[in-house]
Amino acid sequence: MSNTPPPSGKTPARPTIKAVRGTRDLLPAETPLWNHVEATARVVFARYGFGEIRTPIFEATELFARGVGEETDIVSKEMFTWEDRGRAASEKNSSLTLRPENTAGVVRATIEHNLFETGVLNKLYYIGPQFRRERPQRGRYRQFWQIGAEVIGPPSSGAESPLRDAEVLEMLAAYLRELGVRDWKLELNSVGSAEDRTTYSAALREALQPVKHLMCPDNQRRAETNPLRVLDSKEEADQEIINALPKIADFLSPDSRSHFEQVLAALDACAVPYTLNPRLVRGLDYYTRTTFEFTVTTGLGTQNALLGGGRYDGLSEMLGGPRAPGIGFAIGEDRLILTLQAQEELGAPSSTGSLTAGQGGVAKKLDAYIAPLGTAQNPAALALAKELRAADLSVEVGDGSFKLRKSFDIADTLACHIILLGEDEVSTNTATVKTFATGVQKKVERSALLEVLRKQDGSF
Ligand code: AMP
Repeated sequence: MSNTPPPSGKTPARPTIKAVRGTRDLLPAETPLWNHVEATARVVFARYGFGEIRTPIFEATELFARGVGEETDIVSKEMFTWEDRGRAASEKNSSLTLRPENTAGVVRATIEHNLFETGVLNKLYYIGPQFRRERPQRGRYRQFWQIGAEVIGPPSSGAESPLRDAEVLEMLAAYLRELGVRDWKLELNSVGSAEDRTTYSAALREALQPVKHLMCPDNQRRAETNPLRVLDSKEEADQEIINALPKIADFLSPDSRSHFEQVLAALDACAVPYTLNPRLVRGLDYYTRTTFEFTVTTGLGTQNALLGGGRYDGLSEMLGGPRAPGIGFAIGEDRLILTLQAQEELGAPSSTGSLTAGQGGVAKKLDAYIAPLGTAQNPAALALAKELRAADLSVEVGDGSFKLRKSFDIADTLACHIILLGEDEVSTNTATVKTFATGVQKKVERSALLEVLRKQDGSF
């Protein structure tokens, strides 16, 4: 490398580094809404007896291969997988994967920590990032966030009861109501027991045999390997064939049918509206019996699935655990935020419930902005900020080098009050406060300052 400067005499600009495709930064203008959505989930889920679980963001690849299914799009195409260079011989060459979803991880954890041994129902929720190598577009990212919950336990805990399915769905309706999400639609189906699915898959394979050559290459492959996945296909040209295929409802055993009917009856009792969708088999292999999806019409465009979930009665056993039926869901948090933002833009208040985000999820103004008049007042300004923050006020401090006009401009955008701290104020233990909402400006004793700042209307 040569150290000779370029002819212009300027150092060449280095290329900037950007966030990786499909990932994004969430900035302070947006994070209050994220926090609100998460805080509301915590409060609502706690009412239904859920406790939080946090599992690692990477797991052994085999967990997803076994749990989610080798033939699913997620496992076959979308996982971020690497070979561990582990220090210990036992770790060498082990294959690890960034979690593409969290149900498999939660079930692994419940088995690992013997949570089934207590015999009671486990009600667990999580909030965290998931990773899939998808083609990024609005509402579809490579790192995205999910808010999810699982109800799982030994059969004696009642985990298999249709009441649980209905309770989870009613909780979701309550959560969306609390957030003020409007115009959602719950689509519901039953994919039957593992045995029902085997019979149905065979019927699908047979029905696909004479027509599959007319379908896209992906569907031709699925028709052989996992015909159920054909039903998820969005391929426009294949829709007519898919709609004419046999329906799962005609292959449900009496037990599965009765289970599903009881779910519907409980939903009717709770006045949760739903639409039956016989094609809803969902993209993951572990689902049995009830499957569901909530879609919205505003804000998401083609990626209109806000959340999805269902029963997974055999998953624990697939992962080497005891028999432990379960049901859960995952809400796409990014999509929930997009929906709330779009609905707010359309003019409706987005939070009708008791939990508000403070100005509809927009960052709240600070209580005060302290403007030291001259750098000599900087230490006193910082000391005053410390005192006010200790009293639980939110405060920003300017700098004594700023012109007064600049301090006022910044303060007006950031805070409810500006506190001017000049030599005079410091020596007389006073402060000059202006309240932007009213335009009132006054010099007050330091002992009265807290009270003044706590009033938003400047009545002092
Ligand atoms: P799934 O685990 O595929 O059932 O997804 C559950 C929910 O997570 C979906 O309904 C979406 O709202 C959300 N989701 C799935 N994949 C993505 C993604 N790549 N980007 C953003 N949200 C996603």
